[in-house]
Amino acid sequence: FFIAVEGGDGAGKSTQVEALADWIRGKGHEVVVTREPGATPVGQRLRSILLDVSSDGLSSEAETLLYAADRAEHVASVIRPALDRGAIVVSDRYTDSSIAYQGAGRDLSSTEVARISRWATGGLVPHLTVLLDVSPETARERFTEAPDRLESEPHEFHQRVRAGFLALAAADPARYLVIDAGQDPESVTTAARHRLDQLLPL
Ligand code: C5P
Repeated sequence: FFIAVEGGDGAGKSTQVEALADWIRGKGHEVVVTREPGATPVGQRLRSILLDVSSDGLSSEAETLLYAADRAEHVASVIRPALDRGAIVVSDRYTDSSIAYQGAGRDLSSTEVARISRWATGGLVPHLTVLLDVSPETARERFTEAPDRLESEPHEFHQRVRAGFLALAAADPARYLVIDAGQDPESVTTAARHRLDQLLPL
């Protein structure tokens, strides 16, 4: 069973990923917690290129392909092997981040970005995507873990990213759980658990 946790910078993804993983483990499942970019040795190198401020001159197309390369490695060496042995995978970001950041944020065609990711992942789609939705204003006020990123792109960029995520969720409501991540973290976890309780294998 494959769960992706998505959302803008400062939405509290890492906190929720840990909370959900602990809870699922408590139910007796093997859980693999992972993240993008950077879950593999090659991915670590791609992450440092992608997040290095001096990559500012990187074209949006190259950025998209590097994220896709990171994801291809991630699926091939972490996610698929874990799913194949029956583990539950919880990934902090997946394909939707590319569609929201490189598609909506950088203004590339969402269809093309989705197609590249589909190819890179061999078509692997999460069973559930938890979208932590928060306004860029709230993210900036409440979370200090990602101030660099929140401030290194204009406000409009983060608004486009947010709208990109919400559009994906609206197009496929059965596969998404959208949670208001401006609430306290415990309420966010409770909302996610509620949905997972109905979905997880016994
Ligand atoms: O999730 P995390 O904060 O570790 O992501 C690292 C950074 O990469 C974030 O600041 C996010 O803005 C950026 N990112 C991106 N495009 C993606 C995935 C992440 O710009 N497809």
